[in-house]
Amino acid sequence: MDKAEILDLHMHSRASDGVFNPKELMQFVIQKQGVRVVALTDHDTVAGVAQARAEAELLGAHFVSGIEVSCTWGRYTIHIVGLGVDETNTGLVQKTLETCNKRDTRAQLIAQRFEQLGIGGMWQAALDESGTERNISRVHFGRALLKRGVVKNLQEAFDRYLGDGQCCFVPTPWRTIDQGIQLIQEAGGVAVLAHPGRYRMDADWQIDALVEHFASCGGQGIEVVSGSQGASWIPRCMIWAKQYGLLGSTGSDFHSPTGNRPLPGEQGQLPEGIESIMKIVRI
Ligand code: AMP
Ligand code: MN
Ligand code: MN
Ligand code: MN
Repeated sequence: MDKAEILDLHMHSRASDGVFNPKELMQFVIQKQGVRVVALTDHDTVAGVAQARAEAELLGAHFVSGIEVSCTWGRYTIHIVGLGVDETNTGLVQKTLETCNKRDTRAQLIAQRFEQLGIGGMWQAALDESGTERNISRVHFGRALLKRGVVKNLQEAFDRYLGDGQCCFVPTPWRTIDQGIQLIQEAGGVAVLAHPGRYRMDADWQIDALVEHFASCGGQGIEVVSGSQGASWIPRCMIWAKQYGLLGSTGSDFHSPTGNRPLPGEQGQLPEGIESIMKIVRI
């Protein structure tokens, strides 16, 4: 692989909470954005991977099949990106289907919360936003609220209703970090701690403890560069990588062309002084 090639190892399609279907996403990312190494990493599903792979290969890019696994650590939801997973692995397919069912059950409870607030019909509205793939996310509720004019932007939807601890937040126990890593590795993938700068922990030492725990469970990489964390996190991630022997990853965490997140490939590439996770990813 050419060192100068642009990588983006974290992106979402309509198979979870992105706005493009997998084929459109690949066209946008490869043709418009010029990304050469692309991963599709939808929340808790590999349903979009086959379509994305076919299109990416047609367009001559290196494709990495991926997933972003929801995990629970104490009161925090932690995301682990799996890269190079075999999307036909029966354990992975079966277990992620179960998680998606759990997401649907949670979505019904979220809709009930809205109902109690006098905001009715949110189950159907979220379902409509999610399209045929279902796999309902809080983002689908947020987009529905935006369409109805209840909020002015997605951030307000999370701040007022959907964010952790807000009135329509339904805490859900996802996998443990150990189980998340195992799910990825049993499907042939490598486990990368997603956007450590996003978790907003009560105390600063907790994030150190999280990275240590992730590494002790066999996690292999860390997102040093992410569209959903500021560049000020890069040095800290580099130190963790060195301390725990983690490889580096970079991804935009792209969901939609609107909003203030970087577009695919524009999140920045890995700095000098860290080895790329692509060293050990099967493509
Ligand atoms: P879920 O997996 O359904 O709990 O939803 C989590 C997703 O919500 C994340 O992957 C983000 O895409 C999105 N999200 C979380 N916080 C915000 C926010 N403040 N503004 C916009 N999207 C957010
Ligand atoms: Mn998301
Ligand atoms: Mn995430
Ligand atoms: Mn993501």
